[in-house]
Amino acid sequence: MRKTKFLKLKLREASFIARALVSSRHPVLAHLIPMRRCNLACGYCNEYDHSSQPVPLNVVKNRIDKLAQLGTSIVTISGGEPMMHPQLDEIVQHIRLRGMIAGLISNGYYFTPDRIKRLNKAGLEYLQISIDNVEPDEVSRKSLRVLDKKLRYLSDYADFHVNINSVIGGGIKNPEDALAVARRAVELGFSATVGVIHDHDGTLKPLSEREKSIFQEVKKLGNKDHARLNWFQDSIAEGKPYKWRCRAGARYLYVCEDGLVHWCSQQRGYPGIPLEQYTMEDFDREYKTEKWCAPTCTLQCVHQVGILDNWRDPQKTPAEMAQERKSKEALNGILRTD
Ligand code: SF4
Ligand code: SF4
Repeated sequence: MRKTKFLKLKLREASFIARALVSSRHPVLAHLIPMRRCNLACGYCNEYDHSSQPVPLNVVKNRIDKLAQLGTSIVTISGGEPMMHPQLDEIVQHIRLRGMIAGLISNGYYFTPDRIKRLNKAGLEYLQISIDNVEPDEVSRKSLRVLDKKLRYLSDYADFHVNINSVIGGGIKNPEDALAVARRAVELGFSATVGVIHDHDGTLKPLSEREKSIFQEVKKLGNKDHARLNWFQDSIAEGKPYKWRCRAGARYLYVCEDGLVHWCSQQRGYPGIPLEQYTMEDFDREYKTEKWCAPTCTLQCVHQVGILDNWRDPQKTPAEMAQERKSKEALNGILRTD
């Protein structure tokens, strides 16, 4: 990424952060899914199919318009594999046109010099690729050996920020792979982050001593901003729950291919309201609602958004929220009768 463009992006980010600190009443980050289909089938993933069609461009544009209307700062296009959407460039362009930061999460398979140049032109600002291992295996083909050529193309042609995320824990066979991935990322001029994941049965287990030391090494190598913001990972690495306020459904939105707003990719169905009908009343309710899954959550981006408001506005449990609603309704009933 050119230095001037990088500085401009950092300035824009700083102004969005300042705005988010001043006011808590707009979404900071939205993940938007224009394509549920994926070319891969990673063993741990519940976010893809092999048959769905791309969401039509005009529908995606309407969703972007609604996100802009809610005051969203960053829209990250995710999937499935969003590079399979035939009009991805127009989607990126539309996010930029509406004044929001445009990001993309991809498995990296479809990057060619031409495709990268088109994304430069469209105005893409961030790309994240997750690489799970060095050699492909039965669980994941998001592998350094398979993707290295694509990473070199990105290093040569991308005019957007590239972050390479590796993972550790969850029974990943060779924890050393995370270090190899991060080293290669830094060598190519990218930032590198590492995610700690749950065991395959969803439980939180402490990392082994070997995993912990690799985790610390990757953090040292990688993106310093992320390492500073991801201190929750130190608790997760120890197998301990972490206390924080998840603002999903408000400051963070996950908009699926059907246009429904969910807390996140792992809690689909809550609140499950169509984006076009999403109101500030929905926003306020979700902002105030304590999420039962928060103590063991490993979703880095939602944690980072949560930091902006962690110091203010304590949350209530869903039962307390329901009780509060009932009391309000009862009071309104009495006032109407009077
Ligand atoms: S590439 Fe991503 S979306 Fe596709 S199966 Fe793997 S983890 Fe899921
Ligand atoms: S705590 Fe984590 S898993 Fe639960 S809703 Fe928030 S982001 Fe999703």
